[in-house]
Amino acid sequence: MRIPLSSPDINEQDIEAVAAVLRTPHLSLGPKLLEFEDSLANYIGTSNAVAVSSGTSALHLCIRALGISNGDEVIVPSFAFIAVANAVRYERAVPVFVDIESTTLNLDPERIEKAITPRTKAIIVVHTFGVPAELDRLLGISKRHGLSIIEDACEAIGAKYGGRKVGSFGDVGTLAFYPNKQITTGEGGAVVTNNSEIATRVRSLRNQGVTVAGSWRAHSDVGYNYRISELNCALGISQLSRIDSILDRRDSIAQLYHSALAPVSELRRPALLLPDRKISWFVYVVRLSSRFTATHRDWIVDQMKVRGIVLGRYFTPIHLQPAYRTFSQNNSMLPVTEFEAQRTLALPFFNQIGGEQVDEVSESLRTLCAAI
Ligand SMILES: *Cc1c(COP(=O)(O)O)cnc(C)c1O
Repeated sequence: MRIPLSSPDINEQDIEAVAAVLRTPHLSLGPKLLEFEDSLANYIGTSNAVAVSSGTSALHLCIRALGISNGDEVIVPSFAFIAVANAVRYERAVPVFVDIESTTLNLDPERIEKAITPRTKAIIVVHTFGVPAELDRLLGISKRHGLSIIEDACEAIGAKYGGRKVGSFGDVGTLAFYPNKQITTGEGGAVVTNNSEIATRVRSLRNQGVTVAGSWRAHSDVGYNYRISELNCALGISQLSRIDSILDRRDSIAQLYHSALAPVSELRRPALLLPDRKISWFVYVVRLSSRFTATHRDWIVDQMKVRGIVLGRYFTPIHLQPAYRTFSQNNSMLPVTEFEAQRTLALPFFNQIGGEQVDEVSESLRTLCAAI
Protein backbone atom coordinates (compact mmCIF):
# COMPACT_ATOMS: atom_id res chain seq x y z
CA MET A 1 0.00 0.00 0.00
CA ARG A 2 1.35 3.40 -0.99
CA ILE A 3 -0.31 5.35 1.82
CA PRO A 4 -0.76 3.33 5.03
CA LEU A 5 -3.28 4.10 7.77
CA SER A 6 -0.57 4.65 10.35
CA SER A 7 3.18 4.32 10.67
CA PRO A 8 5.46 4.58 13.72
CA ASP A 9 7.96 7.44 13.81
CA ILE A 10 11.28 5.81 14.69
CA ASN A 11 14.47 7.87 14.38
CA GLU A 12 18.19 7.14 14.88
CA GLN A 13 18.03 8.32 18.50
CA ASP A 14 15.33 5.70 19.20
CA ILE A 15 17.36 2.93 17.55
CA GLU A 16 20.49 3.91 19.45
CA ALA A 17 18.58 3.99 22.75
CA VAL A 18 17.28 0.44 22.25
CA ALA A 19 20.65 -0.87 21.04
CA ALA A 20 22.38 0.64 24.10
CA VAL A 21 20.17 -1.44 26.42
CA LEU A 22 21.38 -4.59 24.67
CA ARG A 23 24.94 -3.70 25.68
CA THR A 24 23.93 -3.87 29.38
CA PRO A 25 22.94 -6.86 31.54
CA HIS A 26 19.60 -5.20 32.42
CA LEU A 27 16.85 -6.34 30.09
CA SER A 28 13.89 -6.19 32.48
CA LEU A 29 13.04 -4.42 35.78
CA GLY A 30 16.10 -2.20 35.46
CA PRO A 31 17.02 1.50 35.33
CA LYS A 32 15.12 2.25 32.10
CA LEU A 33 11.84 1.21 33.73
CA LEU A 34 12.39 3.68 36.58
CA GLU A 35 13.43 6.45 34.20
CA PHE A 36 10.45 5.84 31.90
CA GLU A 37 8.04 5.86 34.83
CA ASP A 38 9.53 9.09 36.22
CA SER A 39 9.31 10.79 32.83
CA LEU A 40 5.71 9.66 32.34
CA ALA A 41 4.58 10.80 35.81
CA ASN A 42 6.34 14.09 35.27
CA TYR A 43 4.79 14.56 31.82
CA ILE A 44 1.21 13.69 32.83
CA GLY A 45 1.48 15.48 36.16
CA THR A 46 0.70 12.59 38.50
CA SER A 47 2.74 11.46 41.48
CA ASN A 48 2.95 7.89 40.13
CA ALA A 49 3.31 6.06 36.84
CA VAL A 50 3.61 2.28 36.56
CA ALA A 51 4.70 0.99 33.16
CA VAL A 52 3.24 -2.32 32.02
CA SER A 53 3.10 -4.63 29.01
CA SER A 54 0.12 -3.01 27.23
CA GLY A 55 -2.75 -0.59 27.54
CA THR A 56 -5.05 -3.56 28.06
CA SER A 57 -3.03 -4.84 31.02
CA ALA A 58 -3.03 -1.28 32.40
CA LEU A 59 -6.84 -1.24 32.25
CA HIS A 60 -7.07 -4.68 33.83
CA LEU A 61 -4.78 -3.66 36.70
CA CYS A 62 -6.91 -0.55 37.32
CA ILE A 63 -10.01 -2.75 37.64
CA ARG A 64 -8.16 -5.12 40.00
CA ALA A 65 -6.58 -2.35 42.08
CA LEU A 66 -9.96 -0.65 42.59
CA GLY A 67 -11.34 -3.93 43.92
CA ILE A 68 -13.97 -4.25 41.18
CA SER A 69 -15.13 -7.85 41.02
CA ASN A 70 -17.85 -10.39 40.44
CA GLY A 71 -21.18 -8.77 39.51
CA ASP A 72 -20.02 -5.16 39.97
CA GLU A 73 -21.12 -2.86 37.16
CA VAL A 74 -18.79 -0.55 35.27
CA ILE A 75 -20.11 2.09 32.88
CA VAL A 76 -18.23 2.06 29.57
CA PRO A 77 -18.71 3.39 26.05
CA SER A 78 -19.53 0.86 23.35
CA PHE A 79 -17.96 3.08 20.70
CA ALA A 80 -14.44 2.18 21.86
CA PHE A 81 -11.59 -0.27 21.55
CA ILE A 82 -12.81 -3.64 22.82
CA ALA A 83 -10.14 -3.85 25.56
CA VAL A 84 -12.19 -1.29 27.54
CA ALA A 85 -14.96 -3.86 28.09
CA ASN A 86 -12.68 -6.91 28.16
CA ALA A 87 -10.75 -5.51 31.14
CA VAL A 88 -14.04 -5.35 33.08
CA ARG A 89 -14.93 -8.91 32.18
CA TYR A 90 -11.54 -10.32 33.20
CA GLU A 91 -12.76 -9.73 36.78
CA ARG A 92 -16.28 -11.07 36.06
CA ALA A 93 -17.69 -7.58 36.45
CA VAL A 94 -20.39 -6.34 34.07
CA PRO A 95 -19.80 -3.68 31.42
CA VAL A 96 -22.83 -1.38 31.17
CA PHE A 97 -22.77 0.35 27.82
CA VAL A 98 -23.79 4.00 27.63
CA ASP A 99 -24.29 6.02 24.47
CA ILE A 100 -21.98 8.76 23.22
CA GLU A 101 -22.66 12.30 22.08
CA SER A 102 -22.01 12.89 18.43
CA THR A 103 -19.72 15.96 18.50
CA THR A 104 -16.83 14.42 20.42
CA LEU A 105 -17.83 10.72 20.23
CA ASN A 106 -17.26 10.54 23.99
CA LEU A 107 -19.65 9.22 26.68
CA ASP A 108 -22.75 11.39 26.94
CA PRO A 109 -22.89 12.65 30.56
CA GLU A 110 -26.69 13.10 30.19
CA ARG A 111 -27.13 9.37 29.78
CA ILE A 112 -24.76 8.16 32.47
CA GLU A 113 -26.91 8.85 35.50
CA LYS A 114 -29.79 6.80 34.07
CA ALA A 115 -27.44 3.80 33.85
CA ILE A 116 -26.28 3.94 37.48
CA THR A 117 -27.59 1.20 39.79
CA PRO A 118 -26.69 0.17 43.36
CA ARG A 119 -24.13 -2.20 41.83
CA THR A 120 -22.28 0.48 39.79
CA LYS A 121 -18.70 0.89 40.96
CA ALA A 122 -16.89 2.89 38.30
CA ILE A 123 -16.97 4.71 34.98
CA ILE A 124 -14.30 4.15 32.34
CA VAL A 125 -13.97 7.54 30.69
CA VAL A 126 -12.34 7.10 27.28
CA HIS A 127 -10.90 10.21 25.61
CA THR A 128 -11.90 8.99 22.19
CA PHE A 129 -9.45 9.66 19.35
CA GLY A 130 -7.55 12.05 21.66
CA VAL A 131 -10.47 14.39 22.35
CA PRO A 132 -10.84 15.06 26.10
CA ALA A 133 -14.16 13.99 27.58
CA GLU A 134 -16.29 16.40 29.61
CA LEU A 135 -14.37 15.79 32.78
CA ASP A 136 -16.01 18.39 35.00
CA ARG A 137 -19.45 16.88 34.52
CA LEU A 138 -18.17 13.30 34.71
CA LEU A 139 -16.28 13.98 37.94
CA GLY A 140 -19.41 15.64 39.33
CA ILE A 141 -21.46 12.52 38.58
CA SER A 142 -18.84 10.23 40.11
CA LYS A 143 -18.74 12.32 43.32
CA ARG A 144 -22.53 12.42 43.65
CA HIS A 145 -22.78 8.64 43.33
CA GLY A 146 -19.52 7.57 44.99
CA LEU A 147 -18.09 6.00 41.83
CA SER A 148 -14.45 5.61 40.79
CA ILE A 149 -13.24 7.16 37.55
CA ILE A 150 -10.80 5.24 35.36
CA GLU A 151 -9.58 7.60 32.67
CA ASP A 152 -8.61 5.68 29.55
CA ALA A 153 -6.13 8.08 27.97
CA CYS A 154 -4.71 5.36 25.70
CA GLU A 155 -5.65 7.45 22.64
CA ALA A 156 -5.00 10.80 24.25
CA ILE A 157 -1.50 11.20 25.69
CA GLY A 158 -0.78 14.92 26.03
CA ALA A 159 -4.40 16.03 25.57
CA LYS A 160 -5.47 18.70 28.04
CA TYR A 161 -8.67 19.68 29.76
CA GLY A 162 -8.65 23.16 31.24
CA GLY A 163 -4.85 23.27 30.95
CA ARG A 164 -4.24 19.97 32.76
CA LYS A 165 -3.25 16.69 31.09
CA VAL A 166 -5.88 13.98 30.82
CA GLY A 167 -5.09 10.86 32.81
CA SER A 168 -4.49 12.98 35.92
CA PHE A 169 -8.14 13.70 36.76
CA GLY A 170 -9.56 10.31 37.67
CA ASP A 171 -8.72 7.94 40.50
CA VAL A 172 -6.48 6.26 37.98
CA GLY A 173 -5.60 6.63 34.28
CA THR A 174 -4.18 4.46 31.52
CA LEU A 175 -1.79 5.12 28.62
CA ALA A 176 -0.83 2.86 25.71
CA PHE A 177 2.16 2.63 23.39
CA TYR A 178 1.18 0.27 20.57
CA PRO A 179 2.81 1.30 17.25
CA ASN A 180 -0.27 3.19 16.00
CA LYS A 181 -0.39 5.48 19.06
CA GLN A 182 1.09 8.99 19.26
CA ILE A 183 4.27 7.55 20.81
CA THR A 184 5.23 3.89 20.86
CA THR A 185 7.28 1.37 22.81
CA GLY A 186 6.39 -1.44 20.36
CA GLU A 187 4.05 -2.93 22.95
CA GLY A 188 3.47 -1.22 26.26
CA GLY A 189 1.22 0.78 28.51
CA ALA A 190 1.12 2.55 31.85
CA VAL A 191 -1.10 3.27 34.82
CA VAL A 192 -0.91 6.85 36.12
CA THR A 193 -2.36 7.94 39.45
CA ASN A 194 -2.02 10.35 42.35
CA ASN A 195 -3.06 7.57 44.71
CA SER A 196 0.10 5.90 46.06
CA GLU A 197 -1.79 2.90 47.45
CA ILE A 198 -3.22 2.12 44.02
CA ALA A 199 0.24 2.57 42.48
CA THR A 200 1.78 0.15 44.96
CA ARG A 201 -0.96 -2.39 44.31
CA VAL A 202 -0.56 -2.07 40.51
CA ARG A 203 3.22 -2.39 40.81
CA SER A 204 2.83 -5.61 42.76
CA LEU A 205 0.12 -7.11 40.52
CA ARG A 206 2.26 -6.36 37.45
CA ASN A 207 4.88 -8.76 38.81
CA GLN A 208 3.05 -11.86 40.14
CA GLY A 209 1.64 -10.01 43.18
CA VAL A 210 5.02 -9.84 44.84
CA THR A 211 5.55 -7.60 47.87
CA VAL A 212 9.01 -7.25 49.27
CA ALA A 213 9.22 -7.82 53.03
CA GLY A 214 12.87 -8.04 53.90
CA SER A 215 14.52 -10.94 52.11
CA TRP A 216 11.23 -12.84 51.99
CA ARG A 217 9.38 -12.51 48.69
CA ALA A 218 5.73 -12.64 49.71
CA HIS A 219 2.99 -13.07 47.13
CA SER A 220 0.06 -11.37 48.78
CA ASP A 221 -2.14 -11.44 45.66
CA VAL A 222 -2.53 -13.63 42.62
CA GLY A 223 -0.78 -11.34 40.15
CA TYR A 224 0.34 -11.46 36.54
CA ASN A 225 3.37 -11.08 34.36
CA TYR A 226 2.44 -7.68 32.92
CA ARG A 227 6.05 -6.46 32.96
CA ILE A 228 7.53 -4.32 30.20
CA SER A 229 11.15 -4.89 29.10
CA GLU A 230 14.02 -2.41 29.33
CA LEU A 231 14.17 -2.27 25.52
CA ASN A 232 10.58 -1.07 25.34
CA CYS A 233 11.20 1.45 28.13
CA ALA A 234 14.30 2.85 26.40
CA LEU A 235 12.24 3.39 23.25
CA GLY A 236 9.53 5.03 25.33
CA ILE A 237 11.97 7.44 27.02
CA SER A 238 13.36 8.44 23.64
CA GLN A 239 9.92 8.92 22.10
CA LEU A 240 8.60 10.83 25.11
CA SER A 241 11.57 13.21 24.93
CA ARG A 242 10.20 14.59 21.66
CA ILE A 243 6.47 14.24 22.26
CA ASP A 244 5.83 17.99 21.96
CA SER A 245 7.08 18.11 18.38
CA ILE A 246 5.23 14.86 17.57
CA LEU A 247 1.93 16.28 18.84
CA ASP A 248 2.55 19.58 17.02
CA ARG A 249 3.19 17.71 13.79
CA ARG A 250 -0.03 15.70 14.23
CA ASP A 251 -1.92 18.90 14.90
CA SER A 252 -0.70 20.41 11.64
CA ILE A 253 -1.68 17.27 9.68
CA ALA A 254 -5.19 17.54 11.14
CA GLN A 255 -5.28 21.16 9.96
CA LEU A 256 -4.16 20.12 6.48
CA TYR A 257 -6.98 17.55 6.27
CA HIS A 258 -9.45 20.08 7.67
CA SER A 259 -8.72 22.51 4.80
CA ALA A 260 -8.37 19.87 2.10
CA LEU A 261 -11.73 18.31 3.02
CA ALA A 262 -13.63 21.59 3.38
CA PRO A 263 -15.13 21.29 -0.14
CA VAL A 264 -16.36 17.71 0.44
CA SER A 265 -19.86 18.38 1.77
CA GLU A 266 -20.63 14.65 2.17
CA LEU A 267 -18.07 14.38 4.97
CA ARG A 268 -18.35 15.67 8.52
CA ARG A 269 -14.91 16.64 9.77
CA PRO A 270 -13.80 16.37 13.41
CA ALA A 271 -13.72 19.63 15.37
CA LEU A 272 -10.22 21.15 15.23
CA LEU A 273 -10.70 23.21 18.37
CA LEU A 274 -12.91 22.78 21.41
CA PRO A 275 -13.22 25.27 24.26
CA ASP A 276 -10.89 24.58 27.22
CA ARG A 277 -9.45 21.50 25.55
CA LYS A 278 -6.28 20.60 23.74
CA ILE A 279 -6.74 17.63 21.41
CA SER A 280 -3.92 15.09 21.09
CA TRP A 281 -4.46 13.74 17.56
CA PHE A 282 -4.49 9.93 17.62
CA VAL A 283 -6.33 9.35 14.35
CA TYR A 284 -8.17 11.61 11.93
CA VAL A 285 -11.71 10.26 11.64
CA VAL A 286 -14.33 11.76 9.32
CA ARG A 287 -17.98 10.74 9.17
CA LEU A 288 -20.08 10.16 6.09
CA SER A 289 -23.32 12.13 5.99
CA SER A 290 -26.61 10.41 6.83
CA ARG A 291 -27.48 9.51 3.23
CA PHE A 292 -24.61 6.98 3.27
CA THR A 293 -24.81 3.48 4.73
CA ALA A 294 -22.23 0.98 6.00
CA THR A 295 -22.32 -0.64 2.54
CA HIS A 296 -21.32 2.66 0.92
CA ARG A 297 -18.51 2.96 3.42
CA ASP A 298 -17.22 -0.53 2.62
CA TRP A 299 -17.24 0.37 -1.08
CA ILE A 300 -15.24 3.55 -0.39
CA VAL A 301 -12.70 1.58 1.70
CA ASP A 302 -12.33 -0.97 -1.15
CA GLN A 303 -11.99 1.67 -3.85
CA MET A 304 -9.38 3.57 -1.84
CA LYS A 305 -7.43 0.32 -1.44
CA VAL A 306 -7.40 -0.03 -5.23
CA ARG A 307 -5.73 3.39 -5.27
CA GLY A 308 -3.12 2.21 -2.74
CA ILE A 309 -4.65 4.11 0.20
CA VAL A 310 -5.62 2.38 3.45
CA LEU A 311 -8.63 3.62 5.44
CA GLY A 312 -9.88 2.30 8.77
CA ARG A 313 -13.47 1.78 9.91
CA TYR A 314 -13.11 2.63 13.65
CA PHE A 315 -15.05 1.17 15.68
CA THR A 316 -17.53 -1.67 15.49
CA PRO A 317 -19.62 -1.03 18.62
CA ILE A 318 -18.59 -3.44 21.38
CA HIS A 319 -22.19 -4.34 22.30
CA LEU A 320 -22.72 -5.66 18.75
CA GLN A 321 -19.68 -7.98 18.88
CA PRO A 322 -20.41 -11.71 19.14
CA ALA A 323 -18.46 -11.95 22.42
CA TYR A 324 -20.81 -9.33 23.93
CA ARG A 325 -24.17 -10.64 22.79
CA THR A 326 -25.25 -11.49 26.33
CA PHE A 327 -24.45 -7.95 27.49
CA SER A 328 -26.63 -6.10 24.99
CA GLN A 329 -30.30 -5.92 25.89
CA ASN A 330 -31.49 -5.25 22.36
CA ASN A 331 -30.50 -3.81 19.04
CA SER A 332 -30.60 -0.04 18.68
CA MET A 333 -30.13 0.37 22.41
CA LEU A 334 -27.39 2.92 21.68
CA PRO A 335 -28.73 4.94 18.74
CA VAL A 336 -25.92 7.51 18.47
CA THR A 337 -23.19 4.85 18.73
CA GLU A 338 -24.87 2.69 16.09
CA PHE A 339 -25.52 5.61 13.72
CA GLU A 340 -22.02 7.05 13.93
CA ALA A 341 -20.16 3.72 13.92
CA GLN A 342 -21.54 2.88 10.48
CA ARG A 343 -20.25 6.12 9.03
CA THR A 344 -16.79 6.63 10.51
CA LEU A 345 -13.74 6.54 8.26
CA ALA A 346 -10.20 6.85 9.62
CA LEU A 347 -7.86 8.51 7.11
CA PRO A 348 -4.12 7.85 6.74
CA PHE A 349 -2.55 9.72 9.65
CA PHE A 350 1.09 9.53 10.76
CA ASN A 351 3.91 11.97 11.44
CA GLN A 352 5.66 11.52 8.08
CA ILE A 353 2.60 11.97 5.85
CA GLY A 354 3.13 14.84 3.42
CA GLY A 355 0.79 17.59 2.29
CA GLU A 356 0.60 16.07 -1.19
CA GLN A 357 -0.56 12.76 0.25
CA VAL A 358 -3.19 14.53 2.36
CA ASP A 359 -4.41 16.25 -0.81
CA GLU A 360 -4.46 12.98 -2.75
CA VAL A 361 -6.47 11.18 -0.03
CA SER A 362 -8.91 14.10 0.18
CA GLU A 363 -9.34 14.36 -3.59
CA SER A 364 -9.91 10.60 -3.94
CA LEU A 365 -12.53 10.73 -1.20
CA ARG A 366 -14.29 13.64 -2.91
CA THR A 367 -14.46 11.72 -6.19
CA LEU A 368 -15.74 8.53 -4.54
CA CYS A 369 -18.39 10.25 -2.40
CA ALA A 370 -19.63 12.12 -5.48
CA ALA A 371 -19.93 8.79 -7.37
CA ILE A 372 -22.44 7.33 -4.86
C1 LIG B 1 -5.03 1.33 22.21
C2 LIG B 1 -6.06 1.37 23.27
C3 LIG B 1 -5.94 0.63 24.44
C4 LIG B 1 -4.77 -0.30 24.74
O1 LIG B 1 -4.39 -1.10 23.72
P1 LIG B 1 -3.16 -2.14 23.78
O2 LIG B 1 -3.14 -2.67 22.40
O3 LIG B 1 -3.52 -3.17 24.80
O4 LIG B 1 -1.95 -1.40 24.17
C5 LIG B 1 -6.92 0.77 25.41
N1 LIG B 1 -7.97 1.57 25.24
C6 LIG B 1 -8.13 2.30 24.11
C7 LIG B 1 -9.31 3.21 24.00
C8 LIG B 1 -7.20 2.21 23.09
O5 LIG B 1 -7.37 2.92 21.97
